[in-house]
Amino acid sequence: MYFIANWKMFGGLNSLNSIHKVVKFFKTFKKNKFIKIIYCPPSTLIRPMSKKLKNTNIDVGAQNCHEQDTYGAFTGSINSMMLKNVGAKYVIIGHSENRQAGETNKLINLKIKNALKSGLKVIFCIGETLQEKRKKITKKILNKQIKLGLNKIKNKKNVIIAYEPVWSIGTGLIPKSNELFKTIDFIKKKIKNNKVLYGGSVNPKNIYELKLINNIDGYLIGGASQDPKKFIDIIKKTYN
Ligand code: PEP
Repeated sequence: MYFIANWKMFGGLNSLNSIHKVVKFFKTFKKNKFIKIIYCPPSTLIRPMSKKLKNTNIDVGAQNCHEQDTYGAFTGSINSMMLKNVGAKYVIIGHSENRQAGETNKLINLKIKNALKSGLKVIFCIGETLQEKRKKITKKILNKQIKLGLNKIKNKKNVIIAYEPVWSIGTGLIPKSNELFKTIDFIKKKIKNNKVLYGGSVNPKNIYELKLINNIDGYLIGGASQDPKKFIDIIKKTYN
């Protein structure tokens, strides 16, 4: 099971103290061999966080990258090669907050290709908006995002899919269990042999409901991952 913490645009150097609790908990947690924890802090914290997590089983990832894998005149941007250089092993690509800011499937495809080329593993986010859900075109949307996002990528072994319905991110809402099972199943049939995670308002309460859906390979956790107590609680409750 994957437990991926997406800190979004939160956290300064002082917030690194909070990960000690998670490191300590994880060392002694009985099920730790079956778990992969990945922290995706803002880019400013990748280096100090990877130093802190050296000699632990916890990895660090980035939240996005520029589509070009070589240096260039792109003010304010960071590419996958640079992220790898400071300790990132993963990168989230296609997050709905970035899609909403204008990222297209074509751009996402380029980012994924070049991130893989740089040697990063990719957490590829897909998901429908509320409007698309209401129109009952969720499958069509997911199919398009998968097809275009992974276009001409032959080796997909370093791609993890995160199904994140846009209407569920940061809203406290999660899909109905039977619907979520069916959607994850649909994605797994489209892209075989890849891990498929769920993301969207995962918290220490709804984890009891989510953990019963037996085709989910882990969670991408935003808000709740910034609080070490909640993050630990989610992991513990997944196994209790
Ligand atoms: C996310 O940002 O990927 C996410 C799932 O956020 P939240 O858990 O806060 O809904």
